[in-house]
Amino acid sequence: MVKIFLDPGHGGVDPGATGNGLQEKNINLSVASTIQNILINEYENVEVRMSRTGDQTVSLSSRTNAANSWGADFFLSIHVNAGGGTGFESYIYPNVGAPTTTYRQALHEEVLKSVNFNNRGQKQANFHVLMETTMDAVLTENGFIDNASDAEKLRNPSFLQNLARGHANGVARAFNLRRKSTPDPSPVQGVYRVQIGAFRNSENAEELSERAIAKGFQTYVYQDDGLFKVQIGAFADRSRAEELASRAEREGFDAFVH
Ligand SMILES: [Zn+2]
Repeated sequence: MVKIFLDPGHGGVDPGATGNGLQEKNINLSVASTIQNILINEYENVEVRMSRTGDQTVSLSSRTNAANSWGADFFLSIHVNAGGGTGFESYIYPNVGAPTTTYRQALHEEVLKSVNFNNRGQKQANFHVLMETTMDAVLTENGFIDNASDAEKLRNPSFLQNLARGHANGVARAFNLRRKSTPDPSPVQGVYRVQIGAFRNSENAEELSERAIAKGFQTYVYQDDGLFKVQIGAFADRSRAEELASRAEREGFDAFVH
């Protein structure tokens, strides 16, 4: 099992860099959460933890302590730059050597394949999170929030998706992660799925799926943990998922949100 620790920079009382109506902490969290979802949904044998999953204030030392005590294999910190410039750069601890350099190379290349950022190069710095982590660590600076053209990109949710995809591709390449044969549905962030059944036998799942379709639901049957699961919806908003689940219950299905 490969243990990946994702660190969305800043949070809570610390917004990080700000500009053009954007706050760095929110972009970092959005990108890191999407990386987590892509890795978990699409790859085998990978575990992900985050230094924060919401808008919390987390000190630098509690971030590195959490990764160290978990025994993470890799620490990836996500940031957005400011202060005059444009584009993407990545950091490792000075003179750290392989395999950190190899991992960083993979990340740097895959990010720049996925988004059209100016390449500012592969750099070194003695940032706290690179210095105090006991595992290989990389920090990325994803555009300049105070640059109008970079900010325009960072404002666009599909750009952030691609940015996350680039990071996930880099992690997958660095650690030779194997793709799941059937990806989990809805590889997007914060998804609440409405499920009405799970079966060892695919025919039972198909039969339930047809009954649900006859009652006006849209269904999606997929394989997970050796079971055929019947899903009737997936939402970013929990209350919408619960609404659909209650409608399914009224129609006589055993629905639950997960
Ligand atoms: Zn930052």
